[in-house]
Amino acid sequence: MEKKPFVTKEQLDEIVKEFPTPFHLYDEKGIRENARKVKKAFSWNPGFKEYFAVKATPNPFILKLLHEEGCGCDCSSMTELMLSEACGITGSEIMFSSNATPAEEFVKARELNAIINLDDFTHIDFLEKTCGIPETISCRYNPGGVFKMSNGIMDNPGDAKYGFTTEQIFEGFRILKEKGAKKFGIHAFLASNTVTNEYYPALAKVLFQLAVDLKEKVGVSISFINLSGGVGIPYRPEQEPNDIAVIGEGVRQVFEEILVPAGLGDVAIYTEMGRFMLGPYGGLVTKAVHQKHTYKEYIGCDACAADLMRPAIYDAYHHITVMGKEDQPCDHVYDVTGSLCENSDKFAKDRALPEIEIGDLLFIHDAGAHGYAMGYNYNGKVRHAEILLQEDGTAKMIRRAETARDLFATFDFCDILKDVKYND
Ligand SMILES: *Cc1c(COP(=O)(O)O)cnc(C)c1O
Repeated sequence: MEKKPFVTKEQLDEIVKEFPTPFHLYDEKGIRENARKVKKAFSWNPGFKEYFAVKATPNPFILKLLHEEGCGCDCSSMTELMLSEACGITGSEIMFSSNATPAEEFVKARELNAIINLDDFTHIDFLEKTCGIPETISCRYNPGGVFKMSNGIMDNPGDAKYGFTTEQIFEGFRILKEKGAKKFGIHAFLASNTVTNEYYPALAKVLFQLAVDLKEKVGVSISFINLSGGVGIPYRPEQEPNDIAVIGEGVRQVFEEILVPAGLGDVAIYTEMGRFMLGPYGGLVTKAVHQKHTYKEYIGCDACAADLMRPAIYDAYHHITVMGKEDQPCDHVYDVTGSLCENSDKFAKDRALPEIEIGDLLFIHDAGAHGYAMGYNYNGKVRHAEILLQEDGTAKMIRRAETARDLFATFDFCDILKDVKYND
């Protein structure tokens, strides 16, 4: 399938007059429409809720927008909890799915009445000593071994640091019940970026069977089952996208097959998607500023891996559109690079693209999740702005660019940098 940016060249030419490149651009219309599709796909389940994984795109404007569409927040750190609270998202609208959790984060989560999803058996004791066991509690399950789907996609939970073992989760719920917990949930995240409609139904099967076994063996009745994240997006144009309606229907069938006959037809289904909610609805907009002709042809951009790290660390593919040249033949082969002193700082390697001239705008696709959020300050690079393309076609800044002042702020305890000359 051809990948088209959600913004036209004409629109982008206007936007860059107000907001200089590079920046992350998000598509409000796409975000809202997709969130509604997710809700509809699971509308057969009255308790359904999507808890957006804040780590994917930790921007309060985005969190509020998703909250308007009925989403809560999945948090895993102190500042993510603080962000949710500031957006007016608290109580059972927060799922706190953390690991190796510092005590003060459990305290904060309890203060906010968030649903705590314990990552480990020993955290039962830790939580009790830190702030007591809440009435509602969830545990994260790790079945071990390898998790396979019929299309060959697999992941290796046995090698993952997360979750309770099977034995531990039975014992864990026995203890939690004894300690006074009243409402129970289970959670698992077994494979990442799955581009197949089979993942959630296969995971649901594992968790639904666990719920039935917990009822029979421990006498705890599970109230909610959290399928977590892992629903992927087609980064490559030839990949077939997931169909969330098919995924929702697949989960419903397993629900009817396993939970309903066991008297668990009231279970609420939760999800914690990040990538699927935001990935395709954000792009990194950058300008070609250099051409270099050595052993290869290079295009140097004004963005770098500090803005979008996935290609550098995972060798991830991100599709690139040269704005205004969508219909030109891809008869040039380029490495598209940033300016870090780091050879992995390439948005694309040996990529066939139309001829790029200096000043051309490049739209790097699928940067809406785990994009800006993974950014860093290596090489003294400051991170750039985030802009929202609103439904009415206007652009709004939803995070300003960092400046040198932000970068040096952590030296404010001393005066070495007090006379530094800022050029802003
Ligand atoms: C990262 C994460 C998610 C979101 O994952 P995606 O792949 O972005 O959907 C959800 N839940 C937990 C606990 C996570 O760590």
